[in-house]
Amino acid sequence: MTATQLYYPDRMGKIILQAMEEILGRNGLSAILNLASLTDLNHCVSQQEYNQPLSFQAISGIHSALERFYGPHGGRGVALRIGRACFERGLREFGDAYGFTDLAFRLLPLQTRFETGASALASLFNKHSDQRVRLQHEEKFLLWHIERCPLCWERSTDSPTCQMAVGLLQESLYWMSGGKIYHLEEIACLACGDSACTIRIEKMPLS
Ligand SMILES: [Zn+2]
Repeated sequence: MTATQLYYPDRMGKIILQAMEEILGRNGLSAILNLASLTDLNHCVSQQEYNQPLSFQAISGIHSALERFYGPHGGRGVALRIGRACFERGLREFGDAYGFTDLAFRLLPLQTRFETGASALASLFNKHSDQRVRLQHEEKFLLWHIERCPLCWERSTDSPTCQMAVGLLQESLYWMSGGKIYHLEEIACLACGDSACTIRIEKMPLS
């Protein structure tokens, strides 16, 4: 046990727990929290008390439990869908403060909207949680480096595993661009011994 725990605040905890319930159902959510030995959290959720801070250990435990419950491949697919479901709830919670819902943002040219939106999303995590995101711009790609990542916290895996982040980014870009699909791939992961969890986003949408 480390002296200082890292956290997502309760507003983000609520988003994740409610998105999980949307995708897994009440019983599925409960099964995953139990499997991750988060019985106190399960009790809160059963009382509809979703406003819970989530430690990085808890978030990583949830990711790992999804893979044990649904199998490695299925679990990552479910995590991706949970990440997507987090976006709309996050927009309601943080959208106004970060300018996502301003008409001015909606009217920016597509490429500017993409870059402004990604950097606002990164600063949301940097400001409100212990997760650290750094953006790197390349000619064709935007690299989203998660330098301190709750999803794979203290895990060791043989392939990148932070699908909840991929799903959230995918849905964010879809919404910001007014319905365009971007190609995203997690190309490095702290759990594989890399220096960051890196999601590579092609700047040019597929459609
Ligand atoms: Zn990670």
